Amino acid sequence: MAGGNTAADAVIVGAGVMGASCAMHLASAGLRKLLVVEKGRGVGSGSTGRSTAIIRQTYSNYEVSLMAKEALGCFQNWRDFVELPETRANFIAPGVLFLFRKDDQGLASILELHRRVGIRSTVLSGGDKARMFPDLDFAAAPPEEVAALEAGGAEPEPHEAQALFEHDGGFADPVGTAEDMLDAARALGAQARFNTAVTAIGHQGGRVTGVTLATAGGAERVSTPLVINCAGPWSMGLDAAVGFPLPHELVATRIQVVTKHFGEKLKGPLPVMADMVTGFYGRLEAGGRQVVLGSVLEEDEREAVADPDDYNEVADAPFRERILTLLHHRVPTFKTRGRVSSYAGLYTVNRVDSHPIIDESELLGYYNVNGWSGHGFKLSPIAGNLLTYKVLGQWGRGKSEVPPGFFARDRQPLTTHWGGVIA
Ligand SMILES: Cc1cc2nc3c(=O)[nH]c(=O)nc-3n(C[C@H](O)[C@H](O)[C@H](O)COP(=O)(O)OP(=O)(O)OC[C@H]3O[C@@H](n4cnc5c(N)ncnc54)[C@H](O)[C@@H]3O)c2cc1C
Repeated sequence: MAGGNTAADAVIVGAGVMGASCAMHLASAGLRKLLVVEKGRGVGSGSTGRSTAIIRQTYSNYEVSLMAKEALGCFQNWRDFVELPETRANFIAPGVLFLFRKDDQGLASILELHRRVGIRSTVLSGGDKARMFPDLDFAAAPPEEVAALEAGGAEPEPHEAQALFEHDGGFADPVGTAEDMLDAARALGAQARFNTAVTAIGHQGGRVTGVTLATAGGAERVSTPLVINCAGPWSMGLDAAVGFPLPHELVATRIQVVTKHFGEKLKGPLPVMADMVTGFYGRLEAGGRQVVLGSVLEEDEREAVADPDDYNEVADAPFRERILTLLHHRVPTFKTRGRVSSYAGLYTVNRVDSHPIIDESELLGYYNVNGWSGHGFKLSPIAGNLLTYKVLGQWGRGKSEVPPGFFARDRQPLTTHWGGVIA
């Protein structure tokens, strides 16, 4: 399948985590003549390569939490899952700590959902907090009070946060994860082409007939009855070009990330943190000498980007300052000095309900696996399996208990809490 007019069982557009997962599961279900087409130079050229790649299971819906739990199981047994002797996903599991305001009433319903799904979690007592995470100040004030204090106002009231610890979560290497899944697909016969863009999708009588590729050598045509749109923030452009846009409003939004090196010796372990009180999340890098930080506020997910190939890829100075201030309030062990850098990547936010679409479009044979907002990385090991069931009526690698129709394009909007950030 490397030139001229060729044929494939399916063409997958994009080699991020979704394209890689779809390829692996479709190949496992027996579709061997697969072609993954990636316009970038390598795996993870889009959102995947910018992902902070946190893996947690707390969601608003039973089905999404279940999907996250199943995906966590894949990360925990990664080598068996991808069936490769050497892997690059490098899952690290320090656990995930959620902090909520002391008057937040949502904790009981989260715990109930954890119990139903079978997620291991604990609400930390005062003693647990000090013993498990001695570097954290659990009484750190919310941002408005921090600002008032910095402006010379009164010392804020103590705000002892409610702390919920998910024992099994963590993070992984996003590009390594995608590479492993793609290698698993290649081991079953799939092919991948880089520096190659899908520029058109041919159809006749309401059915897909093939794709046109743009390569350095010119245009090529590949006949195929199946095209899977895994183009991340570029997916809406592809839908529009084909003439079958989704009924959901998907928007590419700029998401900022700050990293800071540190030399301080921590008193204890640092979990992945989602601080809903002050508004930031953070985790250590695998080497443990750097923190990676972002925002958990919905207003920081709103900056729409018209062209995913042209946006400001560095974080703004005020954003960096704010996030670092919040870190220093919550983790006073960190000194304010230290080498800071930053970048920005893109979410593909589903403005209807923050959840993706995994479904066939009105054009038969053309499937969407799009609109993952800030959640696609952790859910990716299962996403391709749901797609595979949709396409072939059978599972790829293992069986999922998540209903394959859950992410249908004509669903009722799913309920979300916390402004769609935890979703
Ligand atoms: C800053 C940031 C932090 C995040 N943090 C987390 C997190 O902690 N946990 C989590 O679960 N998720 C997180 N996410 C979300 C997650 O990373 C994404 O949902 C996921 O990576 C989406 O993968 P994808 O394969 O759909 O898209 P992408 O990775 O964008 O892949 C799409 C690919 O398609 C290619 N492409 C596009 N158009 C074409 C074309 N016409 N022809 C050929 N190739 C094409 C692109 O080059 C790209 O490589 C984060 C995302 C960002 C940006």
